[in-house]
Amino acid sequence: QKGEAPREVIAAIATAPGRGGIGVVRVSGPSLAAFVEALLGRVPAPRMATFARFHDAHGAVIDEGLALFFPAPHSFTGEDVLELHGHGGPVVLQLLLERCLGLGARLARPGEFTERAFLSGKIDLAQAEAVADLIDASTRAAARGAARSLTGEFSRAVRALQERLIEARMWVEASLDFPEEDLELIAAARIREKVGETLSSLDRLLENARQGALLRRGLHVVIAGAPNVGKSSLLNALMGEERAIVTDIAGTTRDVLREAIQIEGIPLYVIDTAGLRATDDPVERIGVARTREAISQADAVLALRALDRPEAAPLKEVLALAPPEVPVIEVVNKIDLTGEAPRREAGEDGRIRERVWLSARTGEGLELLRAALLEVAGWHAHGEDVVLARERHLEALREARRALEAALETGEALELLAEELRAAHRALGRILGEYDIEDLLGEIFSRFCIGK
Ligand code: GDP
Ligand code: ZN
Repeated sequence: QKGEAPREVIAAIATAPGRGGIGVVRVSGPSLAAFVEALLGRVPAPRMATFARFHDAHGAVIDEGLALFFPAPHSFTGEDVLELHGHGGPVVLQLLLERCLGLGARLARPGEFTERAFLSGKIDLAQAEAVADLIDASTRAAARGAARSLTGEFSRAVRALQERLIEARMWVEASLDFPEEDLELIAAARIREKVGETLSSLDRLLENARQGALLRRGLHVVIAGAPNVGKSSLLNALMGEERAIVTDIAGTTRDVLREAIQIEGIPLYVIDTAGLRATDDPVERIGVARTREAISQADAVLALRALDRPEAAPLKEVLALAPPEVPVIEVVNKIDLTGEAPRREAGEDGRIRERVWLSARTGEGLELLRAALLEVAGWHAHGEDVVLARERHLEALREARRALEAALETGEALELLAEELRAAHRALGRILGEYDIEDLLGEIFSRFCIGK
């Protein structure tokens, strides 16, 4: 049990706004038996879907549907939880919610159910974050990665590292007690071996998490180039093939569910810049400032030129705007006009990483561009066992890594080594929410949707 258990009863509509076949109101609190009795006239058997009428304060029926009662601690939040599955109309759900508020509940803040699940130790912090990431996932690969984190795959890997560190620390403690120098030397060698193994495992997890962070964050790409070189056409071509994944089954949903443009499951966000020219016109200057801003935050810049417009080669301007750490891919468009074959080359100088010849019109060479984008982004996983990760996880893993490297450098001083191992252990613990969580909680849970 971490921290004080929250005492207030909270309630929220847990299903998305709008009309739907079913709508769910969720309630959580330390002791809901009286609440449930007042609302339903009885307390359903634990964890059994039970048909019931939901009554208002005067005994009139608001709706009827399924009630699910999860007495503590066997619930999502670890408290008593009541779920009311009624009809998915905005007004009827509002009436039901108001009834719950009338019975003493208050409106839940965004993410508060998940926060309580974390605070009562039902899930760790990485899993709590995965709940939001699963809901927000814009590609299938991202959703699968989030599901792996949610079921604890990432957390288990972090804990396995912690176990190794505990073992190494036990050897340190033991060897500090050895009176004989020989034994101490043996122990020191053993500890270093353990730390080295831990470092290798950590590197594997860090690499996986780095890929997972890319899957979560997506690739942000700017297309720059003179007018008419084919920026909009290229954007459409990139969208064209992926846009097809659309769910629109007649009768089941009014909304069309659209996944993001993606490359191998990585969400791809493309900004098509306006004409990119240095100018005295103040309006166009704003355009240049925006372009510069977009480029400086991008994962890659596509500098586009076209074979029918040899005079329009904006590469110098693009290179001038792009900070050195943002890779530039030169794209030569409209090869269909000259009959050239699509190809991809490594850029010969440091600033241009890749060069791709393609046709936005025919689609030839597009796959070469996709491959080049994945390469500059550093993606080389296949998505099967990538766990979705956040920047803060990467930071913690890197910090643990630095501590382990420092541990290997400590030489004879076992006390210093023990100190570094402790630091590594703490850094890993932060991923799971074991340390330094006060500032994190508001930050993490405020970004959830209400009812989650
Ligand atoms: P933007 O101003 O850079 O966005 O350029 P557009 O995408 O609007 O394209 C300008 C013109 O070039 C349009 O007439 C396009 O149809 C044409 N265009 C774009 N890509 C290609 C291509 O690969 N081959 C050919 N032949 N024409 C293209
Ligand atoms: Zn355009």
